Amino acid sequence: MRRTERVAILLEMLPVMYPNARCLLDYDGKPEKLLIATILSARTTDAAVNRVTPYLWKKVRNIEGLSQSRKELIEEIVHPLGFFRSKARSIQEAAAWLTAHKETLPGTIDELVTIPGVGRKTANVIIGEVFQKPAIVVDTHLSRLSLRLDLTRNTQPQKIEADLKILLPKARWTSFSHQLGFHGRQVCLSRNPKCSNCEFNEFCPKKDVTLS
Ligand code: SF4
Repeated sequence: MRRTERVAILLEMLPVMYPNARCLLDYDGKPEKLLIATILSARTTDAAVNRVTPYLWKKVRNIEGLSQSRKELIEEIVHPLGFFRSKARSIQEAAAWLTAHKETLPGTIDELVTIPGVGRKTANVIIGEVFQKPAIVVDTHLSRLSLRLDLTRNTQPQKIEADLKILLPKARWTSFSHQLGFHGRQVCLSRNPKCSNCEFNEFCPKKDVTLS
């Protein structure tokens, strides 16, 4: 099956399978909190971030408080998320930037990545979630599934994003990212993907999948 045919089937099946797919980070509808949560979500799960952020905001109260808090306190709070020193530094620098800019987030990827601690993944989350513009968020799930389903041969997030942008209709960029992410969490697990129970089993090329 050609890649474009596979994508057409996925575009049809995914909204039916995951009608409620969405961003899983908690942020009280506040863009600045989403930015901080997304920075914290690197190399860990959204659920783990959601367990930490309520305590973080309780302790620092707001963005300015986060920027001015003792480094050691922030490191202690984010410790369960791993990479705690760099994450603490990143969110405090981002908070300082936000404070200096009256907590107003810019609406383009190019501007967002100038904020300290903000990479392309975080910028795309903000574009899709806050500005409701089409965005492809290449996280660990989308990377893995795009490779297994042979939607790309690239492993670098920016190149995967570029490949998916060519394959997908723009209006589906954000929803496709969320839906494939849900499939990655529930079925196409990093270790031991449940291929025999997967609705894509018949047409999935299963690139680099070792089935036990
Ligand atoms: S068939 Fe297997 S590798 Fe392909 S999407 Fe499903 S679980 Fe993942």
